[in-house]
Amino acid sequence: MAYKIIASQCTGCGACEFECPNEAISENENVFAIDPDKCTECEGYFDSPQCVSVCPVDETCVLL
Ligand code: SF4
Ligand code: SF4
Repeated sequence: MAYKIIASQCTGCGACEFECPNEAISENENVFAIDPDKCTECEGYFDSPQCVSVCPVDETCVLL
């Protein structure tokens, strides 16, 4: 399982990019996306998914 960013809701603030312990989040022309092959749901690093925790827009980072 992996998290996904709903592109239409993402404001491009960039807050999530540097919080990801797996460097799974990247930006391309102000659109942020999660590489599902790198996302581990933050397991082993944090009790909750950091992209969800820091994202200012509710339900923008969601489980695939
Ligand atoms: S859930 Fe964790 S590992 Fe997955 S993209 Fe978000 S911050 Fe990165
Ligand atoms: S924290 Fe949320 S709004 Fe900001 S870039 Fe990441 S997904 Fe988009």
